[in-house]
Amino acid sequence: MEVIQGIPVSPGVVIGTVFVVDDARRRIPRRTVSASLLTREHERLDEAITASVSELVKLREETESQLGHEPAKIFAFHIGMLSDRTLTGPIHAAIDKHKVTAEYAVWSEFQSLVRRFSKMGDSAFRTKVDDIWDLERRVLRHLIGEHMGKLASLKDDAIIIARDLTPSQTAGFDRSKVVAFATDAGGLTSHTAIVARALGIPAVVGLEVLTGHAVDGQIIIVDGDRGAIILDPDEATLERHRGYIRSNRAFRLLLDQLDKEESVTTDGVHIGLLGNIEFPSEIDTLLRHGGEGVGLFRTEFLYLTNHDEPSEDNHFGAYKACIESLQGRPLTIRTMDLGSDKQTQGQFEIAERNPALGCRSIRYCLQNLDMFRLQLRAILRASALGPVKVMFPLVTNTLEIRQAKMIVHDVMEDLEEEQIPFDRGIPIGMMVEAPSAAVMAATFAREVDFFSIGTNDLVQYTLAVDRINERVASLYSAAHPAVIRLIKETVRAARRHKVPVSLCGEAAGNTMYTMLLLGLGLRSLSMTPSVISEVKRVIRSVDITTCERLARKVGSFDSERQISAYMREKTKAIIPEAFDGRSVES
Ligand code: PEP
Ligand code: MG
Repeated sequence: MEVIQGIPVSPGVVIGTVFVVDDARRRIPRRTVSASLLTREHERLDEAITASVSELVKLREETESQLGHEPAKIFAFHIGMLSDRTLTGPIHAAIDKHKVTAEYAVWSEFQSLVRRFSKMGDSAFRTKVDDIWDLERRVLRHLIGEHMGKLASLKDDAIIIARDLTPSQTAGFDRSKVVAFATDAGGLTSHTAIVARALGIPAVVGLEVLTGHAVDGQIIIVDGDRGAIILDPDEATLERHRGYIRSNRAFRLLLDQLDKEESVTTDGVHIGLLGNIEFPSEIDTLLRHGGEGVGLFRTEFLYLTNHDEPSEDNHFGAYKACIESLQGRPLTIRTMDLGSDKQTQGQFEIAERNPALGCRSIRYCLQNLDMFRLQLRAILRASALGPVKVMFPLVTNTLEIRQAKMIVHDVMEDLEEEQIPFDRGIPIGMMVEAPSAAVMAATFAREVDFFSIGTNDLVQYTLAVDRINERVASLYSAAHPAVIRLIKETVRAARRHKVPVSLCGEAAGNTMYTMLLLGLGLRSLSMTPSVISEVKRVIRSVDITTCERLARKVGSFDSERQISAYMREKTKAIIPEAFDGRSVES
């Protein structure tokens, strides 16, 4: 039995069978073919491309019906690439010119394509590197038959183990058979994590050594709640987890009953529970769980799933779809948070030397004004259709927020001139996710209509720990006293200046933090839709005085470990079901 600790990115515990997806980008040996056999190589190439395209069409249709239009665009892009003569022509030409096998021609052409994309100045192209690798693997599989081919005959309880997964791999697995994902690489914001959450499939990433240890057919437990996997569990461990799965199922049924209940503490204080979404289709789950609106729409996914940069109408269409589904509930649209981990998915991309500290988020927007204005136009147009708020990511100084607001007003004037309706009073807010923003919250409070605390980045920048680097994952925690102090200061400044404040980092959806966050004064939390009822359960079981007492006690501790242990103990006393039966706590 072996326990490997990683990063939990999609909740749920399952027991299943290992299926290793060997995605090593192997070198295809150069094999020459006699002139008389070249026609066959051309035919093989055509057959592989035709088979790949029909596979992709099927995947696009399935994804469209399960996840909606936006995620399905990944496959539309792939189909477009494979149907493009400028891609397939040179592969055919290479077969003739070098008298090589179709697979070698495919391999070498895709290599040079990746090199070309990686060097492009436009980040929208560089983000496509992963898609190109994905396509290469698909075509090669049809040519030489790979392990991935066996996916068609997966067992019913397959757990996909990989070094990393591409977006189309994650979305393309047969949901009736794949019960979990576990990868060596990645972090909370990797594509795998986001798509897994949207699919509702448990996932653990950042397991570093897993693919080196796992073997096809082995029994494995994936604990997406705790971020651990257990290979070859012994009978006692299996039994404990079976028990946990049973009680968890009962617990979920209990939680479902809370969907319609109000989010209110025992002393009558209402706590707003909102959802974080990446795709408009997630609003259904959000509403099912009683979410009161969208606290964070991560619009960068419009860029990551499109072949080209999204047009104003693409943006508008997505926002309109959200507003219609929300039926009068608020929609908080965050302007594109591109850069750092959200555009460096491609392993071979030319990255900035220090992307997390580089040209990302609002900085990127302010350096790409056409793109920024286009998005703001769409947001403002959408604001005429329902309650919309706009929010800027990673603001670190007042000049940025003033500049961003100036641009909003500029775009408003354009719309006015064109007699296009919009909400002139649209609330303009900012994420507080850099220590500079938290420390200067009182100053920023004069500039904006609301704050949303982004603990995911706040932890990264306060503790100097890369949020997607599995090697330092043990140092990454929102329970660090420094992070808690910054949250406290931000909430205090916001309250003093009467600026509404919410929290939308992952801590908002982690029940262990609920009492602390209420005790620090937060009255609005935005989280992954599926965890809303669990957080509501804690809220409905506590009163504010107890939470404030807990927050004061937490303030007296000087280590993350002490704080985590204390908060876990207090939460466990309220919802033991959420902790029972887990073997990986030790
Ligand atoms: C955050 O940083 O906490 C946040 C919510 O934004 P993201 O995870 O998209 O960076
Ligand atoms: Mg962030």
